[in-house]
Parts: sequence; C-alpha cells; structure tokens
Amino acid sequence: MNPLDELSTNFQQLTLSLGFVTLSQKMAPQLAHEGYFYRVNGKPNNGVFKWRCARTDLKCKGSCSTKGNTIGSNYEVTLINANHNHASNPTLLTNKERRRKIKEKATYSESKTRKILSQLCEELNSKEEIANSPSYEADRQVINRIKRKNKPEYPPQPEKLSDISLPEWLIFSLKTPAGSEVFLLHDSGKDDEERFFVFGTNEHIKLLENAHIFCDGTFDIAPKLFLQVYSIHALVHGRYSDDEKIRKLLKLPQVLAFVPSDDVMELFCELKKDISDTQVIDFYTYFEKTYVGYTIETTTWRRYKKTIVEHVKPMFEINLWNVYKRVKECIPRSNNFVEAWHNAFSSLLDHHPLIYELIDVLRKEQKTSEMNLVKLKTGIHYKRKPKYITLDERIQVIVDNYNKSKFQEFFDSLSSILYY
Ligand SMILES: [Zn+2]
Repeated sequence: MNPLDELSTNFQQLTLSLGFVTLSQKMAPQLAHEGYFYRVNGKPNNGVFKWRCARTDLKCKGSCSTKGNTIGSNYEVTLINANHNHASNPTLLTNKERRRKIKEKATYSESKTRKILSQLCEELNSKEEIANSPSYEADRQVINRIKRKNKPEYPPQPEKLSDISLPEWLIFSLKTPAGSEVFLLHDSGKDDEERFFVFGTNEHIKLLENAHIFCDGTFDIAPKLFLQVYSIHALVHGRYSDDEKIRKLLKLPQVLAFVPSDDVMELFCELKKDISDTQVIDFYTYFEKTYVGYTIETTTWRRYKKTIVEHVKPMFEINLWNVYKRVKECIPRSNNFVEAWHNAFSSLLDHHPLIYELIDVLRKEQKTSEMNLVKLKTGIHYKRKPKYITLDERIQVIVDNYNKSKFQEFFDSLSSILYY
C-alpha cells in the first residue's frame, strides 16, 4: 500500500468509527461501540440519538450520539464523553448479537437446529470471537428450548401404527383466503399392518390431471414406524399475456436446439403455419433461411406433370446448432426437480421426525404451494430458483421428457426457463 492510501485508510478508520445497534435483554435498543454498550438517553432530537454508557451501576459518564437507532444497523458514532471508568470488552458485542440472532432464527425460521448453528458459525470471524463464543452445546440448547416453546402440542410418539390418531387440526389444511379444506385424503386404517396416509387437497389433485408429473420417495424424513414419504409433483406454468405469447414464439429457435435434429424442420413448419403476427413471421422467415432450410416445389408441364422438390440448405446446418444429442447423452438423473424439493423440504425436519410434525410441515408446504399457484394465475412469475437446480439440470429434465406429439408442452416448459 502506498503511503497516501495508507493515510487515507487510517483517516477513514478514524472518522468512520461505526457503532452497531443491537437488542438488550430488556428488548431495548443498545448501541455497541468499541467494546462499550450504551442505552438511549432521552428523546431523539432532529433524528440524532443520544446514548449513555450502560454501566450505570458504576456511574460511568461515557456518552455518544448517532443518527439512528434501528436494530441490526451500523451508525457513525460521535463521541461526547469518551472517558469510561471501566475497561471495554470487545467480544461482548459478537456474543450479544449472536444471542439476538439465535433467538430470532429459532423463533422465525423453520430450519433445523443444526442448520441454524452452522449459519451462525459462518458469521464468526476472528479467532478471538470463536474462542469467546458460547459452546455449540449451549447454543443448541437455547435453540431447542425456543423451538419447543413455539411448537404446537403434538400427541406423543406412537409405539405402533395402530396408535396413531391424528388430532382434528392436523386433518385440515391451513387457512388460505379460500378457507381451509380436508387435508387427510386417505388413512388405510388402524387395522392395516402396513398403514399409510395420503395427504393433499382436491385442488392440488386436479393439477395432477394434465401436467408433467414427478414422483420420488425418501426414507430420510420418514417418521418412525414408516418406510418412506412419497411425494407427487406437477409442473405448472403461468398464464401468458399477449406480449408473453410473442416472447415465447421468439424463443422457438432456442427451443428447437433441444429437440432431435430430425424433427426440427417438421416442427418448425407446423408452428410457422399458425403465426399471424407480422413481427414473428419476419423473424421466422429469417430463421428458416439461416438455420432450418426450406423446400421449393416447382411444377413443370413438358410432356407430363412433374413436380420438382428442391431442398434449400440453411446457412448453418441443423447439426451445427442442435444440441439434443449432446444433452441427451449426458443424462445423469431425470428427477432433479423432486430431488431439489426433497432437499429443501428435508431441511425443515429432523431425520425421522414425529409423524404429527411431518404432517404439520406438509400442511405448511401445501399452503406455500397454494400461494404460489395464486401468484402464477395472476401472472406473477414464480422465480424461486434454489441454487442446486441449475438451468442445465432443468433443461435436462425437460429434454428427457421430449415427445414429438406433445411439442407444445415441451415448448411451454423450455421457453419459460430460457432467457435471451
Ligand atoms: Zn462506560
């Protein structure tokens, strides 16, 4: 670093000495600054908050001011009286802030204790912080205590399948604007040695009728006494506005890259026939000449009628840009959607959870999916893209399901995930 940079860095550190507002145990804003804690002192004046040292027991006169007191925010601190009559404790802040975060996460996040702890771990930076942080076990107990306190009262762990008896509130779905409906669709009965339950709503079952369906079973989150949780998923698309229709049609070239090259020309001609929008026609004509090729039929009447079909090659032959084979040949799996769902869903539960808890979490998932459907129907694009579903994997799934006679469906699926 050159001397000038060094100087300016030092200068910035000097003037921009930031304080951090956290929450005190009495649930009041608390300012942490250079190892000291402050409480709000009086009412703000023109947005300026005055703070006084929290060690009132020592009659410490340390004080400062900031231009805000929002919890979780950093503010520039102007010292009023920097003379504290006690030592500072720089690691105290991290621990206090950590405790606040633990409380918040344990209360509002559905994540497993283990996941919350690992997130918190990532936030610890210096060796000093790590050395001074509460033990994993202590944190775990705090989280579990809060989680238990917030959990509904489930019946006890059943010993036998026949012991399972669902409380009435678990039989119904969570309330949505449309109300609450029956969520337990089938119970094979207390006498069944291989007892099983089916959960869902009629609305959701209707969706399965005309959609791509993905299924998968998992043992991970199967409750005790059960072998698996089996889920059935439908691929649902939103409704298109007119502009979106055009946008979709303009994506045809990209989509054709993912169908078998022998089908390209036929599918293209089929689609081109129905186009009326001039903008799209122009584009398709260009695309035809450049990438697909076309045929010219000429009829001559010499001695007898003779039709000559001449094939005009495109500038770039289909095999140059079509990737169907390449995508098809490196197919590792065909169930990525579902696997991603299982991953996300499993993160909400412990291994082999209590059956009642599983059903409860399923109800929440049902409501989430209900909300997403409403968004889809009203044209809001559903953009949840978990990081582990890469675009490639999604393309792979769709290409796997390619069926020439169902090209429209394929076109819909692929154009909805491809961008220019
Ligand atoms: Zn003080």
